Amino acid sequence: MSFGIFLAVTGVVAILVAVMTYLAFRARYSRIKATEDEPLTDVVSRLISVLATAGMVVDDSLAVLRATNSAIALGLVSGRVIRSSEIRALVRTTQETETTNSVEFELTLSEGGDVRYLRARAVTIGAGIVLVLVEDNTEARDFESIRRDFIANVTHEIKTPIGAIALLSEAMEGALDDPTRMHKFADSLRRETGRLSTLITEIIQLSRVETSNILAKAKPANVGVVVREALERIFVIADAKDIVVNAKYPDDVFVMGDGELLTVAVKNLVENAIQYSDRKQSVGIGVTTRNGHVDIIVTDQGVGIPADEQSRVFERFYRVDESRDRTTGGTGLGLSLVKHIALSHRGEVTLFSQPGVGSTFTMRLPRLVETSKENTHE
Ligand code: ADP
Repeated sequence: MSFGIFLAVTGVVAILVAVMTYLAFRARYSRIKATEDEPLTDVVSRLISVLATAGMVVDDSLAVLRATNSAIALGLVSGRVIRSSEIRALVRTTQETETTNSVEFELTLSEGGDVRYLRARAVTIGAGIVLVLVEDNTEARDFESIRRDFIANVTHEIKTPIGAIALLSEAMEGALDDPTRMHKFADSLRRETGRLSTLITEIIQLSRVETSNILAKAKPANVGVVVREALERIFVIADAKDIVVNAKYPDDVFVMGDGELLTVAVKNLVENAIQYSDRKQSVGIGVTTRNGHVDIIVTDQGVGIPADEQSRVFERFYRVDESRDRTTGGTGLGLSLVKHIALSHRGEVTLFSQPGVGSTFTMRLPRLVETSKENTHE
């Protein structure tokens, strides 16, 4: 071997050794780095996997190391990519400032469809590694707007009779020597105070149904007793309109629940049937049982409800025709209460109606088959 060739071979071997040494060093270094980082990201990954909120762990190149199923389901993450520009910007800021940061943003789930209101918070948990937690505040926001609407409606509804009472008392002062007008004003005063009292009672009942767990305190309730009590409560208004209420119900059918609330629901249905019927028309109430449930059916031959209004009549304060209802003194809460009472008893209420022909409301409840008659609502 010539000296030149010897030198060339030695040079190549030296370069190979240097490259291998470098690779070995790099591999060892990266292993150390991995084992140092791993415990932290692993703990965090395990932690976020049990969180109900959406979450992800992101590295310094914005690649997603771990993501919860809800983050994927919301479309915030796909593979190792963060799909939300707001979260990408949040992670970058957090990496640069090494502080905790947050951002609120709207996420459209489907085109022209569901919008979610999200709040993301990010914190650095390792070298360039950021943990992002995302809360879905949509329900809280919806609840808040329902609450605001409800309070606005209640205020408006209460103001109307109170305003009327104030005007009537003034009018009475000016009519002290006219008994006919005094009678008329006293009558109106009674109607307005009655309206106010019904409104307050229904608001209290609604809040009771919505906030308490009815089934937790449920007792066997005899449907026959519920119907009978409801009929006793509407007897006077039926009589005033010359309306006969034909009732047919068994006396041995039970449901689990709150007998008083069920009575209120049935009373509201029969009361509406009377209110929205002409004089001398007839109203029917029947009870049938089938496939483990009980149907309480209230039928009238009244004004009926147009098809496009039928799903809305169960909303709070909704009235088909404002002017029509001012004269009946309705609050617009009756059917909403019926719906909530049915739902809180694991039941439902359905409506079949034709304008000019009449309406049929059916409250369906799970039937209680075996019952001891102790604690029965009788
Ligand atoms: P209200 O106190 O005004 O009767 P409800 O919540 O009980 O309020 O009913 C909502 C609206 O549905 C009523 O204002 C009325 O327009 C309509 N409605 C309810 N029941 C009947 C019925 N049996 N026949 C016709 N319309 C009805």
